[in-house]
Amino acid sequence: MIPVRDDLRALDGYHSPQVDVAVRLNTNESAVPPPTSWRYAFAAELSRVEWHRYPDRAAWELREAIAAFHDVTPDMVFAANGSNEVLQTILLTYAGAGRTVATFEPTYQMHGQIARVVGSDVVEGERQHDFTLDPAEMRRVVADHDPHVTFLTSPNNPTGLVEPEHRIRELLELSNGLVVADEAYAQFAEWSALSLVQEDRPLVVTRTFSKTWSMAGVRLGYGIGPTWFVAELDKVVLPYHLDTAKQIAGRLALRYVDEMDDRVRSIVAERERLSAEMATMQIDVTPSGANFILFRPTRRPGREVWQGLLDRGVLVRDCSGWPRLADRLRVTVGTPDENDAFLDALREVVV
Ligand code: PMP
Repeated sequence: MIPVRDDLRALDGYHSPQVDVAVRLNTNESAVPPPTSWRYAFAAELSRVEWHRYPDRAAWELREAIAAFHDVTPDMVFAANGSNEVLQTILLTYAGAGRTVATFEPTYQMHGQIARVVGSDVVEGERQHDFTLDPAEMRRVVADHDPHVTFLTSPNNPTGLVEPEHRIRELLELSNGLVVADEAYAQFAEWSALSLVQEDRPLVVTRTFSKTWSMAGVRLGYGIGPTWFVAELDKVVLPYHLDTAKQIAGRLALRYVDEMDDRVRSIVAERERLSAEMATMQIDVTPSGANFILFRPTRRPGREVWQGLLDRGVLVRDCSGWPRLADRLRVTVGTPDENDAFLDALREVVV
């Protein structure tokens, strides 16, 4: 074996085990596929593609469609292969060796993971016991480490908590570096930091087609930020990184905004139903603004409950072994039938 870079030796990698079960509520995907008419439109456009040509390098039509959807200009949009690649490109551009990246834990593992892979130092601020962020801790991290990039995830994964507007504003005032608001689940929340993006503010908001748009299989995400920020990312990302099929898929998806809004409404309604039912089972439920719910059974250890659910054909995410998340599990909101199956299984296991 050839040794890897010294700083990568301790790296554990990102694990999300897939088990073949009837009800899969562990990866926060959409419970339903994209609209059928999207499939047909996509297939029709694919049949006309000149496959021997490279894709549009700037993905301009896709950028225009995303920009129109958010009421910004196309030069404020950077699209990539999933929001993970957007995050990676941000970190390649603004972090890396000799630079510092701050996260507030627990949060989305990939922020720290990608930051380390590109050679940055990672500073982990601590959230409070209820997973909210104490402003004093935020001030301490920024004052002590002067991070080049600071992440806030809103709604946060795996907690589901939405970061309030004043917290992001305060971070922007304190910080000398770039602030990234990872909004992979923003459509399920009531507030988005997109309203704060402007040319003279070092704020970028990242979004994905993997959740609301039912397109996790496509791998498409984007960031919205100042034009100078997008121009720098464009220099760093590989040429032709976004294939033609993906550009078409995303552009067409944005024609189905009403259908997607309906789906978001029903997921939010199901989320509230699940939270209320779980609260009656002596389960500690973290309030969620996302399409998933973090919970802690109080009568049995989390790992046992996870296994009990799996034995009944329901797979949720086992966070119980993660730092700061003892006994916690995370369930993705599924279809009403899947949610019923989850609730029935949970009742059997915990009551
Ligand atoms: N950010 C957060 C907070 C996430 O939970 C996820 C998906 N697990 C992502 C980004 C990545 O999403 P994708 O790469 O599918 O766009």
